[in-house]
Amino acid sequence: MKWTQTLVPTLREAPNDAEIVSHKLLLRAGLIRKLAGGVYTFLPLGLRALRKVEQIIREEMDRAGAVEVLMPALQPPEIWQQSGRYETASNVLFKLKDSGGREWLLSPTAEEVITTLAANEINSYRQLPKNFYQISLKFRDEIRPRFGLMRAKEFIMKDAYSFDTTDENAMASYRKMYEAYTRIFARCGLKAFPVEADTGVIGGNYSHEFMVPAETGENEVAFCEACGYAANIEKATSGIPKTAARDAGAAAEKFATPGVVTIEALSKEPYKVPANRQIKTLIYIADSQPIIILIRGDDQLNETKLLAKTGAVAARPATAEEIVPLLGAKPGSLGAVVNVPAPVPVYADERLRGANDMTTGANEDGFHLKSVSIERDIRVTAWFDLRTVGAGEPCGKCGKALKIRRAIEVGHVFKLGTKYSEKLNATFLDVDGTRKPCVMGCYGIGATRTLQAIIEQGNDKDGVVWPWSVAPYQVCITPLAVAPESPAMQLAEKIYAVLPERFKQATGQPMDVMLDDRDERPGVKFKDADLVGFPFRISIGEKSLAKGEVEIKPRTGPVEFVKIDDDLKNVCDYFLAKMTEAALAGKQP
Ligand code: ATP
Ligand code: MG
Repeated sequence: MKWTQTLVPTLREAPNDAEIVSHKLLLRAGLIRKLAGGVYTFLPLGLRALRKVEQIIREEMDRAGAVEVLMPALQPPEIWQQSGRYETASNVLFKLKDSGGREWLLSPTAEEVITTLAANEINSYRQLPKNFYQISLKFRDEIRPRFGLMRAKEFIMKDAYSFDTTDENAMASYRKMYEAYTRIFARCGLKAFPVEADTGVIGGNYSHEFMVPAETGENEVAFCEACGYAANIEKATSGIPKTAARDAGAAAEKFATPGVVTIEALSKEPYKVPANRQIKTLIYIADSQPIIILIRGDDQLNETKLLAKTGAVAARPATAEEIVPLLGAKPGSLGAVVNVPAPVPVYADERLRGANDMTTGANEDGFHLKSVSIERDIRVTAWFDLRTVGAGEPCGKCGKALKIRRAIEVGHVFKLGTKYSEKLNATFLDVDGTRKPCVMGCYGIGATRTLQAIIEQGNDKDGVVWPWSVAPYQVCITPLAVAPESPAMQLAEKIYAVLPERFKQATGQPMDVMLDDRDERPGVKFKDADLVGFPFRISIGEKSLAKGEVEIKPRTGPVEFVKIDDDLKNVCDYFLAKMTEAALAGKQP
């Protein structure tokens, strides 16, 4: 490609609303442009890189035995009502009406469509297993689209759906996808690692997310370097000890605590009740019903766990206006020992199980209760793991200290079971003549988010540092004179014509070459080449030409001078040597 023929609108400065480095570079390197919040146009170079990511995904899905289909972006709401997600996923659904007043949904994902297809097309165990995938636009009404392609309203996702006869076979399909994902991210030059994950509104009972470590990631991951345990903080557990047993009094005892409304205040003079001897009482509204949550004073409630454990679709902290009529006191003096209306469920964190000699609010403003034995004094409806794991806690598997780091979720694999197949009647006739629901799995990769994660991981002060496999062009030829008759331009044209062909002959791989034919100062061209991030730049100037050489500069390595011979053997060999070197090191050139 010639630079003047395409469109690479590089920018010196990123627009103000770009906060993280990969978002800035997507804009500065002329890869994407914003049309509206969370909605972007892919410019030629951005699209090339995206297509390469998609192609890697496609090849690995095909290799894993999945077959490509393309489902509609317009979906009828009826199938979403049938699965129950018309309500549970309503916060992300884009809804629109056609001219006849009929409602449609823009596909945020496609479990309902594929399961409907399976219900119609799959009838016998002989047709199973099947795994269908597509790479297509998805639409989600994200409340806070941000960070460019990371959280967009419209994005490209690969979604795959497996159908099996038994749980065991479904597990095998899951493992194949898990392995395919590992290969996909490695081929994209990404350091991504799998973590145990919550299943959210998708449902199902087993899932892993693939995470790219990054300070700017929206997820937190707890992990153990010693044994390899890793889980999204929304799901992570640790081996932290339960609350130590102590002698409690014969009965809970009320004491005055005027003006004390925080765990911290109660831990100070004159009360001096350590946070780990306090029960924190939180009131939430879960699916429009109040619930009481008890966790230890020094712990934090994990809202994702709350939803997962209680099965609620949505939950939010109750307001003071909702709490006072319910418990008779304001936040700060709440507890679950007295005055708890019978129908209100009380969910307590496992860490409090068996705890005694605890202090908690008395449901009377300005008073607390001490000597509380939780199992004696509180009607606990259910015990759940509800707390958020902290850094340094012992790993639940091996006891070594857990670490926590931020990460970007690029992919997600779920074992769905029969949740969708039962609701949408995707059944098959088994060997024994009985009809059974297909056992399903679903597997997503955000192609556009992956592209941005590659940049978030691969950049330096000068711009993008692309891995060879996804670079829009791998080599940029930069002649410093561009008049057609100039020796620099003539050599540039020759390399442009010969190099990719030779490379292909030798390696079987394509090499994508850009020729910067702009009549610009060398400084501008070099800066742009670094900003766009081509893995290699070949510059042809008068000085080097006089010596019969070209300069080859790997994006992050030292310049090498390569002698020009008639059939450009040295230049071609340079790249072949780089490829071999990289292959031997298990890396990308
Ligand atoms: P998140 O928690 O980040 O919202 P999710 O759990 O909703 O993600 P899935 O439904 O599992 O995501 O979608 C599969 C993949 O699609 C994700 O792993 C992610 O890479 C990508 N993805 C999801 N939402 C978006 C979005 N708004 N913009 C870009 N990519 C997205
Ligand atoms: Mg989401």
